[in-house]
Amino acid sequence: MNFDETTCYICAKCTSGCPTAVYDPTFKPHVIVARSKVDHENLIEEENLWSCVLCKRCERRCPQNVSPLLIVTELKNESYKHCKEHVPKGFEVLIKLVKDTGLASREETIITADFDEFEREDLGLPPIPNINTKVITEALTELGFFDKICEESGSTSTEE
Ligand code: SF4
Ligand code: SF4
Repeated sequence: MNFDETTCYICAKCTSGCPTAVYDPTFKPHVIVARSKVDHENLIEEENLWSCVLCKRCERRCPQNVSPLLIVTELKNESYKHCKEHVPKGFEVLIKLVKDTGLASREETIITADFDEFEREDLGLPPIPNINTKVITEALTELGFFDKICEESGSTSTEE
């Protein structure tokens, strides 16, 4: 797998297998790959970059070993650094939750796309087993993940 979008020949196999493209016709990985070569500045301002669900289907389908997922991820990183107004409001909430709990949501809650929370019990869902999340937060802290996010964004919002 590689980052080299120059080997892409715009066959669109990535887009035809992308679950996000099914629900959002404006999200087309093959177009993102093509535009990343020539339209980087405008591309990082597009909110639908954040619709990618990280499923990796695009890179598994690519005959050229390009990873649209990695290209989208790089663009999101650039977007976070340079035009934070286009980053979904839930992103920093998510980072703070991971920092505090090691999970992307509290175990006992369900979070909607608008970041409304519902208790599992109220929805009639069974409790989930205890998970040792300390190792996750320790590993991410050791890797400097949280420091890097704050440093790149110039934000202190993930700090306690
Ligand atoms: S599947 Fe690969 S070669 Fe085809 S358009 Fe997507 S990135 Fe390009
Ligand atoms: S990783 Fe993102 S771009 Fe690739 S197929 Fe999944 S949702 Fe689409």
